[in-house]
Amino acid sequence: MIAVLCGGVGAARFLLGLRGVVEEQAITAIVNTGDDLDWNTLRVCPDLDTITYTLSGRNASTGWGLEGESWNALAGLERFGAERWFGIGDTDLATHLFRSQALADGTVLHEVTKQISSAFGISMNIVPMTNDSVRTRLTTVDGEEIDFQEYFVHRRHEVAVRSIRFDGVDHATPAPGVIEALERSEAIIIAPSNPLVSIGPILAVRPIAEVLERRRDHVAAISPIIGGRALKGPADRLLVELGHRSSAAGVAALLARFARTMIIDELDRGEVGEIEGLGMRCVVTRTLMDEPGVARDLARTVLDALGVTAVDEVKPDR
Ligand code: GDP
Ligand code: CA
Repeated sequence: MIAVLCGGVGAARFLLGLRGVVEEQAITAIVNTGDDLDWNTLRVCPDLDTITYTLSGRNASTGWGLEGESWNALAGLERFGAERWFGIGDTDLATHLFRSQALADGTVLHEVTKQISSAFGISMNIVPMTNDSVRTRLTTVDGEEIDFQEYFVHRRHEVAVRSIRFDGVDHATPAPGVIEALERSEAIIIAPSNPLVSIGPILAVRPIAEVLERRRDHVAAISPIIGGRALKGPADRLLVELGHRSSAAGVAALLARFARTMIIDELDRGEVGEIEGLGMRCVVTRTLMDEPGVARDLARTVLDALGVTAVDEVKPDR
């Protein structure tokens, strides 16, 4: 069994590779829900959906939503003067309608998530980090506190941030199956996701952090920062704004308590000594998953570093 802590796009890319070298049913993806929002009464879970859509092979190239979408519902809403900055396509809308109705009927989030991923033909175990409400809130340098999607989508992560908190996390318990998966997995992988707003909320759920600290020898983290920069999104700027360094070593410093192994890109080979100085083992490899096959090789390297034997070519990429 393999457990992976996941944000959205970076994690989804990695899971595609991991699925090529480990039986899909043996993988548990534990996914950030701090990005979740209520949109026109509907519950939207961007990171869960990015992973589901990507693994189903139907994700849009933007990284969110589905390919080949129509936008009639959104256009219809505009007639009533609704704001349009958060894009929900018509087919995507069906996911949120289904989830919201199920939640209203009393089904809990991890069960709905299973129903959604199964309907998309996915046998990987995709679970939210918690069924409880946790919301990432950011305080801008001007002192204004805003929701994650207001920051990320509406303001295109252009405003500088002074602090981040995860509203509700103190009372949040891990979703059923999360702790069991972390306890039983031979390997726990922290995906190359934003360390502050994707991995941060997951590690802020106390019992999850505690298992990782205890099982640190079996945990490897992949740096989402390559050559000092994030490939997508504000990870690099956020790191600096919050007093960390935007480098593989900067990410390693944040995760050293939870992971004994750090996987960094060839471009960052010069940071090995610094990372080892944090008490971590450092593995250098290609981490830019820009070609089919790279994610699979990366997954193999990570498993190898944790002493787990990958299965060769489980099935071809879809
Ligand atoms: P979001 O929730 O969709 O914003 O996505 P994540 O938090 O999962 O991913 C954002 C992070 O993924 C960024 O910091 C990227 O640098 C990182 N990322 C995306 N693709 C890759 C990749 O191919 N390799 C590595 N190492 N990092 C990646
Ligand atoms: Ca996200």
